[in-house]
Amino acid sequence: KQPPCECNNCYTGKDCSILLSDCPVNANSGDPLFLEPFWMRQAESSAALVSGWHRMSYIYQDGTFVSEALETVIRKLHSVVGNAVTDNRFVIFGSGSTQLLAAAVHALSLTNSSSLPSRLLASVPYYAMYKEQAEFFDSVHLKFEGDAFAWKNSERNDNTTQVIEVVTSPNNPDGKLKRAVLEGPNVKTIHDYAYYWPYFSPITVPADEDLSLFSLSKTTGHAGSRFGWGLVKDKTVYEKMKRYITLSSMGVSRTTQLHVLQLLNVVVRDGGDNIFHFGHETLKKRWETLNKVISMSTRFSLQKIKPEYCNYFKKVRDFSPSYAWVKCERPEDANCYEIFRTAKITGRDGKVFGSEESFVRLSLIRSQDDFDHLIDMLKKLVFQEGVEA
Ligand code: PMP
Repeated sequence: KQPPCECNNCYTGKDCSILLSDCPVNANSGDPLFLEPFWMRQAESSAALVSGWHRMSYIYQDGTFVSEALETVIRKLHSVVGNAVTDNRFVIFGSGSTQLLAAAVHALSLTNSSSLPSRLLASVPYYAMYKEQAEFFDSVHLKFEGDAFAWKNSERNDNTTQVIEVVTSPNNPDGKLKRAVLEGPNVKTIHDYAYYWPYFSPITVPADEDLSLFSLSKTTGHAGSRFGWGLVKDKTVYEKMKRYITLSSMGVSRTTQLHVLQLLNVVVRDGGDNIFHFGHETLKKRWETLNKVISMSTRFSLQKIKPEYCNYFKKVRDFSPSYAWVKCERPEDANCYEIFRTAKITGRDGKVFGSEESFVRLSLIRSQDDFDHLIDMLKKLVFQEGVEA
């Protein structure tokens, strides 16, 4: 006899297919399950089988922690997509770009010859991890200083204090292509390109920066595999990052590296046509649906980004960011997160991104069920506006 089906708390019925009408929707986390249907169709070609006696050693045959085949396919991926220059760059692997971020900040703060700590900056709105890591690791070499624009215009900016600016492009939360705010011999930059893939943004130029970070989570959607990579120009910085990775985890799991190799081989096999077209079409449709709902509202607005030419799709195209960066326009709706939470939509508070309470971030890259549910709840919220008017 089958045990009774245990539905998650939003579904009911024999086969858990009936959505409870008033169930809160999770639009908070950036879990990239929008790519799951693509991988379901590639179930066989993307599978990796590891026998018990395989890959037991810490190291590869060449004595490193790094799979050469994986490094080769990563370089190929960038050349196929056209989103980054890999010539004259060292490639470094990490357990997610989260670990590489810490490694990069560590490496760049150590190259500071002054006795004062380097200042870590990012322009608002920024991904909260930069601040949280800096404050948690609490290094004597580093201090999180907040908004890069505010620093640029402040009296404390003496143009000699060493600063590290994190440039997230496309940006999390608003999806815009960002450029560094600060410049000068005292400025070092980390470019976080987690979202610089054709799903989310036109590929306008190949990234050609000193230190660029990429994340498997937003490339293939395998966030749980915890894999990211960096492209690093300077050998000393690369060596310092490598030391950080070695001392914190002795490299990245070899099983993960094998799995990632298998996945990226599927991605590059047809020039990325399949996955990037699938993912882009999915998000394009989601944005069309979302725009339709929000266009009926005067209470809420979305970020606006001008279309640009995409070297990957070879046409001018709209952005289709991972997140809706929603503004509550009415003064009485000062706490936008609360307005949505009351309407049973859990987003992420604008304050988390160093921004204002009048913003909330809604994730659009979760599963189709989550997205459909989000749209249902949004329609109710916007419809309520019409009733109140
Ligand atoms: N950078 C940005 C801008 C992100 O949004 C995220 C994850 N959401 C990361 C880095 C971390 O990615 P990973 O899963 O590779 O650690």
